[in-house]
This record gives sequence, C-alpha cells and structure tokens, in this order.
Amino acid sequence: MTPRPDLAVIGGGVVGLSVAWRCAQRGLTVEVHHEELPGTASAVAPGMLSPVSAADFPAPELLAFAHRARHRWPAFAAELAEASGTDLGYGADGMLLVAHRPSDRERVAAMYAFREGHDAPPKALDAAGLRALEPLLSPDADGGGFVTEDHHVDAQRVRAALRTAGEAAGVRFVAGRVGALDEVRAGAVLVAAGSWSPDLHPWPVTPVRGQVVLLRDPDGGPGLRHGIRGVVDGQPVFLAGRHGHETVVAATLDHTGFDVRPSAQATEGLLRSAVALVPALARHRVVETRVGLRPDTPDHLPVMGRVPGRPDTYAATGHYRHGVLLAPLTADLLADLVATGTDAVPAAFSPERFRTAKESTPR
Ligand SMILES: Cc1cc2nc3c(=O)[nH]c(=O)nc-3n(C[C@H](O)[C@H](O)[C@H](O)COP(=O)(O)OP(=O)(O)OC[C@H]3O[C@@H](n4cnc5c(N)ncnc54)[C@H](O)[C@@H]3O)c2cc1C
Repeated sequence: MTPRPDLAVIGGGVVGLSVAWRCAQRGLTVEVHHEELPGTASAVAPGMLSPVSAADFPAPELLAFAHRARHRWPAFAAELAEASGTDLGYGADGMLLVAHRPSDRERVAAMYAFREGHDAPPKALDAAGLRALEPLLSPDADGGGFVTEDHHVDAQRVRAALRTAGEAAGVRFVAGRVGALDEVRAGAVLVAAGSWSPDLHPWPVTPVRGQVVLLRDPDGGPGLRHGIRGVVDGQPVFLAGRHGHETVVAATLDHTGFDVRPSAQATEGLLRSAVALVPALARHRVVETRVGLRPDTPDHLPVMGRVPGRPDTYAATGHYRHGVLLAPLTADLLADLVATGTDAVPAAFSPERFRTAKESTPR
C-alpha cells in the first residue's frame, strides 16, 4: 500500500499543479488526483498575464494580487522552464490596446481610465504609432495604446511543464475523478478542481464558458510581434502569436452551464473581429476551436485558504478569468500555508465568506 502523502491535491489544472510543485519543492510528499474533464479551463486559456489591460478586476484586493502575481511571472517562468526543459512561449514584449473604429474608443479608453494613478499606465498611440509596433495591424485601426507591463505565455505549455517539473520534484499523479473529499487519504487535502469544485464542497463556484480559435499561417509567415487586446464594434477580442506562425483568437464569455460544444456564432464573431484587426489572418487556416469553463464566484474573487470546519482541508479555486496570471502567487501562498501554517492569503479571498451553517458546526 502506498504511504499516506502529506498533501493530496484534487485537480490538475494550472492552479493545482502549481501548488503541488511548490509544496513538493518544500519537502512535502504530494499526490495530484486528476481526471481531465471536458472544459478544463487551463487546456484552453491563451495565457494573457495582463493586470493592466484587463479592466475587469472587481475589487482592489484582486488588482493588487494580480500585479504581485505578474511580477512573479518572469522568475517563475525561468525556473519552470529550467526545471521542465520546456519553452513556455513567454512574451515580455507588452500588449497593444486597439480600438477598431471611433465608436470603440470609449471601451478602450476605459482601460486607460482604470489605470489612472497606477504605475506603468498605458501609453496612448494613434493608428500610425500602433502600426509602427505591429505592422500586421489593419490601416483602418482607429488608435489605442501600448502597455509594457502586460505579458503573455502559452498556458498549455505551462501546464505540461508544471506536470514535468512536479514529477521531477516527486509529485505522484493518481488518475481518476475523486467523488468526495473523504475518499482521499492524506495529511491534508487541497481542492483545486476548477468549475467542478462544488462537487467536493458547497462553494458557489459556477462555470463561465469561453471559446477560442487557433489559426495557422499556411505559408509560415511572420506572426504577431505583440499580444493585442482589441475592441471591434463593441466586442472585446484578444490575439496572440504562437510558435511563430500561429495565432490564438480569444475569447467569448457565456453562462451556459457545462455545455462545452463550440458554437458557430462564437467562432464567426471571433474570426470577424480578428480579421478586422489583422486582415492577413483571413487567409490563415482554422486549426482548432476550443471551449473552456472559467471557475467564477458571486464576487468574482478566488476562494483560497483553509476551509472552515474541515481540519487540514484547503481551497484554491474560483480563479475565474485570471488563473494563469495568478498561479505563481497562489502557489507560493498556499505552499506557505500548508507547509508552515503561515497565512498571507488576502482575507477577501477566504473560504470563510461562503461558510455554510453546516460548516459552523465542528466535525
Ligand atoms: C477561454 C478562456 C480564456 C482564458 N484566458 C485567460 C488568460 O488569458 N489569462 C489568465 O490568467 N486566465 C485565463 N483564463 C482563466 C484560466 O484559464 C482559469 O482561471 C484557470 O485555468 C483555472 O485553473 P484551475 O486549475 O483552477 O481549473 P481547471 O483548469 O479547470 O482545472 C481543474 C481540473 O480539475 C479536474 N477535476 C475537477 N474535478 C475533479 C475531481 N473530482 N477529481 C479529479 N479531477 C477533477 C478537471 O478535470 C480539470 O482538469 C481563461 C479561461 C478560459 C476558459
């Protein structure tokens, strides 16, 4: 019989794998219980690391956390690339914000307004300034800005690298879906099951569907130099180059439960926006359409820390639209908490806020 590990992590997305790796590095014996369910968010996310241009942080605590996480990324990526021997496709070359038409200016301007008073505000650019940085942009682009602080990474490579680095650090992987917390024998248990976390504990985590399209240049031409966050006829779209001649186009946002079938309407909308911003994409091949489920919460903040009323049980879920960005900091704080009891997780993210009457009764 395998000895009981110090920690069992349930869920092998970027969040669970990051925590598992960090805990193993601190000398804990770690198991990851994982079944790849359709809609796994980490298998779909393009990997924007954008605390600046993603003007959708619902609370100052999350914005501050996102900035700290972004600043951990370069060292985290370098260490992970070294530990796994993987090129993570890390792009530290900034992000362009682009309004397609004058009517899209207001929405792009919201990204600026949001940043007033913060460090590294976006630099405003007219159409010529944008094209000087990104020659593939449409000459019709109205204008926008450039954010040096926002980076991007290939999230699927990050996930594969985390598995490799975890195994090298001693993490054991157990295949299969965990039906209930009590099924797992371990010193401590961490729930990192994304949108499926409520199957294991009654947190109000719900799936928010997002679709992405992957394009490939049949002629292997030069790809995008920068990530682009655009607004086309009021619709937000994100473009990032991959491996030189591929482009990821992301992402829609719908509340349709666990339905992970790609829709023609979403694909059409993404492609129309992408071609409007970068006309050369019209002759690229559609390689793949993917759907992922972002784990959301009622206040759109993650659920991280000790689970009230359940000894030695921890949560790292509800990372919604920013789980890739937040993974390095989430992992460090959870590893501190599990390994040493040091709790530096922002109080706003505590599972306490969703404590049920049942949890108030000690077990
Ligand atoms: C379209 C889209 C675009 C996105 N873009 C970005 C972006 O650019 N930047 C960014 O930072 N974030 C982005 N996100 C958000 C990010 O992907 C998520 O926040 C993050 O991946 C969540 O990771 P996770 O490990 O918590 O969950 P997941 O990646 O969903 O992983 C959870 C895993 O646990 C497994 N599991 C569940 N229950 C069990 C069980 N009982 N037993 C065993 N295994 C189980 C599931 O199968 C799944 O594989 C995007 C998401 C989507 C969908």
